[in-house]
Amino acid sequence: MLVDVQGVSKVFTLGSGRRVTAVDDVSFQIRRGETVGLVGESGSGKSTVSKAVLALGGIDAGAVVFDGHRPHEMRGEELRHLRRRMQMVFQDPFSALNRRQTVSQIIEAPLLAHGIGTRATRAEKVREAMHRVRLDEEFAHRLPRSMSGGQCQRVSIARSLVLEPEFLVLDESVSALDVSIQAQVLNLLRELQAELGLTYLFISHDLAVIRYMSSTVAVMQQGRIVEIGARDALFANPQHEYTRGLMAAIPVADPVLERRRRAEAAVLWQAQGAVTGAVPAGTTR
Ligand code: ADP
Ligand code: MG
Repeated sequence: MLVDVQGVSKVFTLGSGRRVTAVDDVSFQIRRGETVGLVGESGSGKSTVSKAVLALGGIDAGAVVFDGHRPHEMRGEELRHLRRRMQMVFQDPFSALNRRQTVSQIIEAPLLAHGIGTRATRAEKVREAMHRVRLDEEFAHRLPRSMSGGQCQRVSIARSLVLEPEFLVLDESVSALDVSIQAQVLNLLRELQAELGLTYLFISHDLAVIRYMSSTVAVMQQGRIVEIGARDALFANPQHEYTRGLMAAIPVADPVLERRRRAEAAVLWQAQGAVTGAVPAGTTR
């Protein structure tokens, strides 16, 4: 067990004094090398869970245990050291990157922040990270604005990998990308996981993406996990009404949108076929 989330709750108090329970007694585990997918509609608490897991914000109840360590109870240098082992990949590849920095400066930044290496060894680590995400060295001196969304997301992933973490939290990491580019980035993430033995918490509102990436799926609704289980079992036999609702073809009034939705699903299946050699059985879309 690499990550053990035990009964975590998080309450926000709004300006009006109203209290919002964003995460309500959430528990799940992630084994090393596994991907747990967290799915749920906007506002269900997914991002609050991701921040809680990385101890990027406080929690009001419960505990997070990462490889036997409790980040919420740690401070200073000890916490900084643990943080190197867990990294976040954000949603929007453009706004997540400093627009004044070149690609190599962006990827080097975490090394500088952690005071790691010499100029030469850092340059080598940056080259290695670029190589890992299949970014040509010619991009090293480019600025994000001269690059596509998919290329920027590769830079984001390289920046997350440069500290050689064991665990990545991917919060809507492909949601801002075009569908065909999404499939490329998802496949890259799967390859990286296999090459580096990475463990993922993969968050998306998109059930097709979750299905493609996850070995275990947790379904969130209004701050709670309403259903969690092995991917294939959960998709074959969803227990909770809300999960069945997510899986059912959501009625789309606009036929153009409906065609787009089907095209998206087809691209993901194709991508999956390329990896596993088969379209998954029991596909409902
Ligand atoms: P998701 O990522 O699933 O869209 P979030 O975790 O972002 O959901 O939000 C869950 C709930 O918590 C929402 O009702 C949201 O408005 C609220 N929330 C999230 N962050 C804050 C915050 N910093 N202050 C107040 N409320 C917040
Ligand atoms: Mg979110």
